[in-house]
Amino acid sequence: MRAGRNDVPRRRSGRVKATALAAALAGHALAGAPALAQDAASTLPVVWVLATGGTIAGGGASSTSLTEYRAGAFTGAELVSALPALGRHATIRVEQVANVGSPNITFDDWLALATRIDAIFRDDPDAAGVVVTHGTNTLEETAYFLNLTVRHDRPVVLVGAQRPATAISADGPLNLLNAVRAAASPEARGKGVLVVLNDEINAARDVTKTSTYRLETFRTPDLGFLGYVDGDRVAFYREPTRRHTADSEFDLTGVTAFPRVDIAYSYVEPNPVLIEALIEDGVDGIVLAGTGAGIVSRRERAALERVAGLPVDARPIIVRSNRTGSGRVVPLPAYDQLGMVAGDTLNPQKARILLMLALTKTRDVDEIRRMFREY
Ligand code: ASP
Repeated sequence: MRAGRNDVPRRRSGRVKATALAAALAGHALAGAPALAQDAASTLPVVWVLATGGTIAGGGASSTSLTEYRAGAFTGAELVSALPALGRHATIRVEQVANVGSPNITFDDWLALATRIDAIFRDDPDAAGVVVTHGTNTLEETAYFLNLTVRHDRPVVLVGAQRPATAISADGPLNLLNAVRAAASPEARGKGVLVVLNDEINAARDVTKTSTYRLETFRTPDLGFLGYVDGDRVAFYREPTRRHTADSEFDLTGVTAFPRVDIAYSYVEPNPVLIEALIEDGVDGIVLAGTGAGIVSRRERAALERVAGLPVDARPIIVRSNRTGSGRVVPLPAYDQLGMVAGDTLNPQKARILLMLALTKTRDVDEIRRMFREY
């Protein structure tokens, strides 16, 4: 476990003790529900909770501190023990992987999570699933990374919250309960990494954060969410069709660092110096957040044409994504002939992750195009 890193400086008067969290949650209807003993004789499914921080573990100065608080103020163990209703659904085992706001999640955290989840599924035959508590800002990125790198078909569910744990009407406790129920659900098996907030189950590949403060922030544009977690049961209505988890070809064995891939955002009169600086800096790949269907301006194109002239080994792979928030980016001859890859429906931050993983295996553009069709 790493010491917590602060996102918002903790004010002395704003110190919140774990006991305050337990006290705040003790009055909660769900927390008050009878909990079953979590002992070795329990026949409940085992769910591991791997905690990384975020608002779900956030603490503010008062119950109305909704926008100023410290992410990662509580440990996963504290969140779990403040929610005895979890014991009605699963035997919980908790571990702390990090305790940060999710803008500060690192590639090392991703490697630690993927490695630990694989080890849990390998070594604990009783483990029904894993829940990862995470800040919402980059939750979709961690979810998609794990969707491509965890090598088992048992459920991995990412969960966060929009309001800190100390807030009036905090959403974290119910989100955590629902995530554990989803992870314990046999129906969740084989559906890839899932994101559960606001009673809705989304697929890691397609979900994105769409709102700064609203509880219904996680949306899957065009394709829709997979199901609900309601009072009666965990109900699925559809499942992802793209390759993931047990069917993924990406293998982290021996991987300690990732190829460098950055994102360039398009707009009216863009400054091509940004793309040129990335190329000059020796990046391995660039994702373009193009306008419309992944279109770039003449200015950017001139910089990208110079890339096509570089020796193959020194040439970053360019993926076209887009800034619209939904829809496909399809191959187009004018871009394909410059060696670019069409990013399909992946948003720029997800396209970046697939390109990073692709580049751990190959620099062959046709192979990378295949991966963007399959994942
Ligand atoms: N700042 C927080 C984070 O991403 C927001 C959240 O947790 O929702 O960690």
